[in-house]
Amino acid sequence: MKVLVLNCGSSSVKFQLIETSLEAIEKNADRLLARGGVEKIGAAAAIVTFEVPGRDIHRETPEILEHREAIACVVRLLTDSEIGVVKDKGEIEAVGHRVVHGGEKFATSTIITDEVAAKIKECIELAPLHNPANIRGYIISHQFFSDVPHCAVFDTAFHQTMPEHAYLYAIPRVLHRSLGVRRYGFHGTSHRYVARQVERIAGRPLAEIRVITAHLGNGCSITAIAGGKSVDTSMGFTPLEGLIMGTRSGDIDAAAVLHVIGKQELRLSEANAMLNKHSGLLGISGRSNDMRELTKAALEENDRAAALAIEMFSYRLRKYIGAYAAAMGGVDHLAFTGGIGENSALVREKACQGLEFMGLKFDPERNADAGAGGERVISTDDSPGMIHVIPTNEELVIARDTVRCIEGVI
Ligand code: ADP
Repeated sequence: MKVLVLNCGSSSVKFQLIETSLEAIEKNADRLLARGGVEKIGAAAAIVTFEVPGRDIHRETPEILEHREAIACVVRLLTDSEIGVVKDKGEIEAVGHRVVHGGEKFATSTIITDEVAAKIKECIELAPLHNPANIRGYIISHQFFSDVPHCAVFDTAFHQTMPEHAYLYAIPRVLHRSLGVRRYGFHGTSHRYVARQVERIAGRPLAEIRVITAHLGNGCSITAIAGGKSVDTSMGFTPLEGLIMGTRSGDIDAAAVLHVIGKQELRLSEANAMLNKHSGLLGISGRSNDMRELTKAALEENDRAAALAIEMFSYRLRKYIGAYAAAMGGVDHLAFTGGIGENSALVREKACQGLEFMGLKFDPERNADAGAGGERVISTDDSPGMIHVIPTNEELVIARDTVRCIEGVI
């Protein structure tokens, strides 16, 4: 079945067309037919990319003012007689949507009905920046693909298995009941995918192993998975909490924020921008939120602020690895994913320093092997636990969940 996967953000629409089925999922034989996106929706020239495996990337810069035009553009490219991959949009049999927040309402992926769409809308107050675009993507794409099932796959769903003692904050409990304030966790689709890959590589059921997955991209989160379930994760009520990220602070004493708000007479929106847009690697280095640039600055220009940002990033990560090993009574597998997790040998090396005491013996040579790509092991052969690098594939999970929902096996 050809499944169109849509990830609609506030100013972008990313897509993949994936051919998959229950049999293909079983054999890991799903096929990517095309991928691409429309970025900078609303700007004078949007950036459109369309990529078919084995062919040159097609690029356009048309004026695209809103999401309806963006999705129309995606449909046009997919069905284009020269560069397209389907003759008619009727060949597309299902659409899978990334939805950021499912609150406490969704613990699994689900076919979108009117009732489901209404519940996703109710989650808007928990994710005001993301859910509206996700919902809009559904409504518009439903007009293009009205006769096929649409499925919602939530970033938060995988973490709904966390126990109360992990997801509650130690604030008056009424705030959970009245305002929904609790830890939800994000990146669930990625953590779930990486954990399943670990299971395949380990050759042992996920239910029998303790896994820590670290998703390190522009946003970063780390998850403890025991008995096949997320038992703790570092992002919280919003994606701000936990690890240090590109522009987000991660963990910080809430009273320090109140202090700054008071002293500088900040408005809520300014405090929000300080924590979400001007902090993290960017705030510490005063230079960039990009790990590649910071690594170059630290190693080649001896930029001390850049070096400090990398040190702090890696130290926070190491602390969380230790904490989650303690939470699970040990760890059998640690896996790195995301742009930084997959590519930064420096961060992985710093984060794994001194973890032998908990059975993770890091192999610096395997880690530093620049030629190695894809899935790989970076622990030593005699390490009791394994350390992995596993490229994530959230779109594949969305396509697979869409098929599973349609076939009734979710
Ligand atoms: P997003 O969360 O937006 O999907 P990515 O997963 O692509 O982002 O991660 C982006 C981060 O990955 C950036 O900080 C970028 O610098 C970093 N990154 C990508 N390639 C490398 C590399 N070769 N070395 C170090 N960092 C890298």
